[in-house]
Amino acid sequence: MIQGTASRNRPVYLDANATEPLRPAAREAILAGLEQTGNPASVHAAGRTARIMLEEARRQIATAFGREADSCVFTSGGTEADTLALHGFARVEGRPVLMGATEHDAIRKAAPDAGIIPVDGQGVIDCAALEDMLATQTVPPLVCIMAANNETGVYAPLREVAALCRHHGAFLHVDAVQAAGRMWKQDAFSLALKDGSLAGASLALSAHKMGGPKGAGALLLPEDRPLPPLLPGGGQERGRRGGTPALASHMGMAAALEESRKQDWKLLEALRDELETVMIQAGAIIMGRDGARLPNTVSAVLPGVAAQMQLMALDIEGYCVSAGSACSSGKVSRSHVLEAMGQEEAAGQAIRVSLPWNVAAEDVKAFGQAYMLMAQRFAERGVLKRASS
Ligand code: PLP
Repeated sequence: MIQGTASRNRPVYLDANATEPLRPAAREAILAGLEQTGNPASVHAAGRTARIMLEEARRQIATAFGREADSCVFTSGGTEADTLALHGFARVEGRPVLMGATEHDAIRKAAPDAGIIPVDGQGVIDCAALEDMLATQTVPPLVCIMAANNETGVYAPLREVAALCRHHGAFLHVDAVQAAGRMWKQDAFSLALKDGSLAGASLALSAHKMGGPKGAGALLLPEDRPLPPLLPGGGQERGRRGGTPALASHMGMAAALEESRKQDWKLLEALRDELETVMIQAGAIIMGRDGARLPNTVSAVLPGVAAQMQLMALDIEGYCVSAGSACSSGKVSRSHVLEAMGQEEAAGQAIRVSLPWNVAAEDVKAFGQAYMLMAQRFAERGVLKRASS
């Protein structure tokens, strides 16, 4: 057990990329939505009231990304939004799929035969390789690129990717799940939205990564266009996603998104940078540090120390962090993201620390101390390989 850590609040939650804590404004909006009895599809007064609330949430979300309300298809989360895009644009419309090597399983598992676009050592999409792959396609493909990586936080060069897709007539789908609730105007995702680079792309969003509820999301289409549904059902969402929409959750999502846009992400980034300095002193190597990254994410490798051992040691001290990659069974697996970055050995030794929107600075500092002590303990036991040793 590690001695001498100072944090008062236990456990300290530092796993925002798995899910952000609920924002108070989202909670309020959810409660308001739960009070509504009507089904938004009903034509009577109660239905109409629910419909007005649902459409307001849709308008708010679409507008934040420069889209018309009717381009927004509500889903049960990021996974469904990604799967819906692959289903509609690839499987049904007959496009082959190209995807980045570091995509989330929501994309990877939905198109197992896709062509894989390599990334460089920082996890950034290799645009020259993408161009070569696009040039050899006989049918214009669907290209799937995540805006920011869930493990390292590294942003994709979306403007360049979008330009290549336009040039080769490919359709671009952007998994914006991690980036969408962390926009500060100058980040790579916001800039690509602002200059119109993503006007022709679809975007996958997830409420719980913004501080909204789990189990809600959206697919933003480039325009109000038909899309073959995964769930035909009763033809809701203009025939693009059947099933009664989760009114309260989508209202919570809209409120969370709005709050996330008022957040000072630069403050969080400064805290993250301070923490990284301490972790590096402790012997860690930070993955993707030279690339543009999400402001809250640290992917840290402690050479020689299995991620599972680090997680257990930190958990005992009261810190909730995650391995580079954790599957739904809770088992720690090797990170395909770090493997794709050429970090074969590091792939089983990385933990991810992702600061939530409401993190306390003192908790981040205390975590840094706990990490330092943990590293010393592993060094004493001869497990930690220091760069100089
Ligand atoms: N895409 C990325 C990049 C993610 O990080 C996640 C969740 O971790 C998803 C998609 C899936 O989103 P959801 O949990 O809403 O299904």
